[in-house]
Amino acid sequence: MEHELFVCACHNIEHQMVLSYFDDEIDVYLSVHLRKHCFLKRLWIAIRYIFGRQSPFGAFEEIILREEDVNRLNDILSQRREFFEGAEHK
Ligand SMILES: [Zn+2]
Repeated sequence: MEHELFVCACHNIEHQMVLSYFDDEIDVYLSVHLRKHCFLKRLWIAIRYIFGRQSPFGAFEEIILREEDVNRLNDILSQRREFFEGAEHK
């Protein structure tokens, strides 16, 4: 299995994702690191959740891709698409 690590352009290693795939399979797996908060922060989030309060943006984190990472991601996905298209014609 191939793994490609992408770290956010802000250089915070809590903002990262790993793209995984097999050379001979179509599927691509995207694993995104979920930041773990301290106990009090998690308790505060849980209390807000119980009462139906959430961030207006939802429970999302983000990762900012640098140009070289965008190119690398594009190369991997293009390679996967070529494999997929090749598999469709068999
Ligand atoms: Zn970041």
